[in-house]
Amino acid sequence: MILSIIVPCYNEEETVSLFYNEVEKQEEFFQKNSIEPEFIFVDDGSRDKTVEKVKALREKDKRVHLISFSRNFGKEAAIFAGLERASGELVTLMDADLQDPPALLPEMYSYIQNGYDVAATRRVDRKGEPPVRSWFARRFYALMRKISTTDIVDGARDFRMMTRKVVDAVLAIKEYNRFSKGIFGWVGFKTRWLEYENIERAAGETKWSFWKLFLYSLEGIMAFSTAPLLIPLFLGIMFLIAAVVLLVISIVLGIGGNEVAVQVICCVVAFAAGVQMCCLGIVGMYFSKIYLEVKNRPKYLVREEF
Ligand code: UDP
Ligand code: MG
Repeated sequence: MILSIIVPCYNEEETVSLFYNEVEKQEEFFQKNSIEPEFIFVDDGSRDKTVEKVKALREKDKRVHLISFSRNFGKEAAIFAGLERASGELVTLMDADLQDPPALLPEMYSYIQNGYDVAATRRVDRKGEPPVRSWFARRFYALMRKISTTDIVDGARDFRMMTRKVVDAVLAIKEYNRFSKGIFGWVGFKTRWLEYENIERAAGETKWSFWKLFLYSLEGIMAFSTAPLLIPLFLGIMFLIAAVVLLVISIVLGIGGNEVAVQVICCVVAFAAGVQMCCLGIVGMYFSKIYLEVKNRPKYLVREEF
């Protein structure tokens, strides 16, 4: 049985061989279960020596494969490319930086053997992460639980082992704006969760700035919830009610003419205009996503592969 190991790499020259060596330590487990590993390194437009490092591995191990993108398309595109290329009956996604310990592979495999379709992982703490980032991450998951019907698990990592059925289901989702955590939740299937404590990356540094993560979380919200589109409707109704109430009050009390201060009117008008602009912004965000989907551009372009 082939196990495809998909590894998205963006400037990972320091970690590629560390990663390979660590997985190789599982060789005994592979042989005992007649598993043939297939390494698929997806180079996401790295500007360092990542590709050379993968080529060096290929020299000594023909089970190593590479898909090299023409530029940086993002981890989501790398995952998709890897899944398309994977030939295994079983597929696992792993980061190159060893934050996803290969030592968990035997346990994951045992769950699949016991009838689960997916063995997924989540980290139970956020040790080594800036506190502000953790706080925002927690808020994001709490919000998603409220506004989305898709189950998006707090602390879930992309590190998971899946059967072919699940991989095909994920590949059937063709959307351009991909949010894997949501996609995995959306496809469902019988999932067993493994928990482990956060491990810091082996070498190099994280590719995610706070801003990139923030935009990614907006991506997640828009991809898996339409609740924000109800905000304009809600605010509109509030404003209508307030307007009627004010009208009644002014008729009853006989307020009118010059008695209402010009400043008050200016403030109310400016406030209402601000609310309208924000609402337009929410609609615009969804509109831009539709625009990108409709263009139907390829999710990635390949420069080189073997
Ligand atoms: N990655 C990628 N494309 C990107 C950013 C990251 O393929 O644009 C890869 C990266 O090489 C690593 C994995 O995605 O293997 C996770 O990235 P990172 O470790 O920087 O994220 P973190 O673990 O800090 O969330
Ligand atoms: Mg990492």
